[in-house]
Amino acid sequence: MSAYDYLIVGSGLFGAVFAHEAAARGKKCLVLEKREHTGGNVYCEEIEGILVHRYGAHIFHTGSRKIWEYVNRFCEMNRFTNMPVANFKGEIYNMPFNMNTFSKLWGVVTPEEAKAKIEEQRGAARGEPRNLEEQAIRLVGEDIYRKLIKGYTEKQWGKPCSELPAFIIKRLPVRYTYDNNYFNDPYQGIPIGGYNVLIDRLLEGIPVRCGVDYLEERQKYRAMADRVVYTGQLDAYFDYAYGPLEYRSLRFETECLDTDNYQGVAVMNYTDRETPYTRIIEHKHFDFGTQEKTVITREYPVKWEKGMEAYYPVNDAANQGVYERYRALAEQETGVLFGGRLAAYKYYDMDKVIEVALEAVSKELEGE
Ligand code: FAD
Ligand code: UDP
Repeated sequence: MSAYDYLIVGSGLFGAVFAHEAAARGKKCLVLEKREHTGGNVYCEEIEGILVHRYGAHIFHTGSRKIWEYVNRFCEMNRFTNMPVANFKGEIYNMPFNMNTFSKLWGVVTPEEAKAKIEEQRGAARGEPRNLEEQAIRLVGEDIYRKLIKGYTEKQWGKPCSELPAFIIKRLPVRYTYDNNYFNDPYQGIPIGGYNVLIDRLLEGIPVRCGVDYLEERQKYRAMADRVVYTGQLDAYFDYAYGPLEYRSLRFETECLDTDNYQGVAVMNYTDRETPYTRIIEHKHFDFGTQEKTVITREYPVKWEKGMEAYYPVNDAANQGVYERYRALAEQETGVLFGGRLAAYKYYDMDKVIEVALEAVSKELEGE
């Protein structure tokens, strides 16, 4: 008999939700985490009394009442609404693309005028877009593409927009109302006290070992549990047998400044090509902080190499093909369940990752 029913590799949202739900159904779980802390990418650390999102801005938003209520069982959410602004060479525009953006750009006032302007800006672009550049121009026209999309996207992905898949920007809303809310979802907020409150409550009473890389001590840990839930990189699990999948990584440069308000907004996107970072986060604005100082983080996209944190999967056709080969290997692997954004090689938002973790537990423990 093994010491544990489940060995859960990774303490991000997928691992923490899975562990919580399995433990609630009487299963004995052990969580392994290779970082020195739990929480994966939603982890927050406190600097000068300010909660700092160590791995980039995380705003919880969902269209699912069920997931919203689930999260609210573990933490209270504040009223933060993401309204980032774009800075193009010192010109400030509201995001996502909405009447405020159109008005500032072209002096238009009514939705009808904005639509006419975008129609004109689309030029001859028609038909099914073949890449991100075509998609963007069809959606919002040349001016917005040039000022607010091209530079940001090429920095973010390290490739020309004409070589990127169109779906990357499909998640950005285009609105003909004066509404700066970045998300369309009815539920939005940030846990009061930070995401660690959520993670700590999920993992309450469950043993966790930090600073342990499962792949380096596979034999030892595999023998300790009946089943494994693996939330790390799928290509790494199979020792990169088909070569590494492509990811984008990020470098975060965090600074504490002697001012109480540096940029007046939580997220400012730098949409020109020359500024080497994509955005500056001013963390105190996520929870309406009134501290004397402020903490900001510049986010620099970088090419991913083995050993770095893999933040964004590059889901183009070539990588998807390689991923499918890994997935076939994963299906042959007995006693191991693969889940979360790294094992699924998918860009999941937090609500989606919670939803798939809940589904995975139900499927796993159905009828028990
Ligand atoms: P992770 O959080 O990555 O957790 C996986 C864990 O497994 C990590 O802690 C890792 O260290 C550990 N691990 C990996 N391999 C091993 C191993 N071999 N041994 C032991 N441990 C291992 N979503 C939103 O909804 N809103 C946002 O505003 C938002 N902003 C984001 C901004 C950025 C910059 C990024 C990168 C993502 C953002 N997301 C956002 C997405 C969000 O971060 C994810 O949905 C969520 O964190 C995924 O949880 P996970 O458990 O799948 O993965
Ligand atoms: N994007 C852009 N300009 C911006 C913000 C986003 O062109 O000011 C594009 C960019 O290609 C990005 C995509 O829209 O990768 C999705 O943006 P989102 O803010 O959803 O990305 P995330 O916050 O997840 O990095």
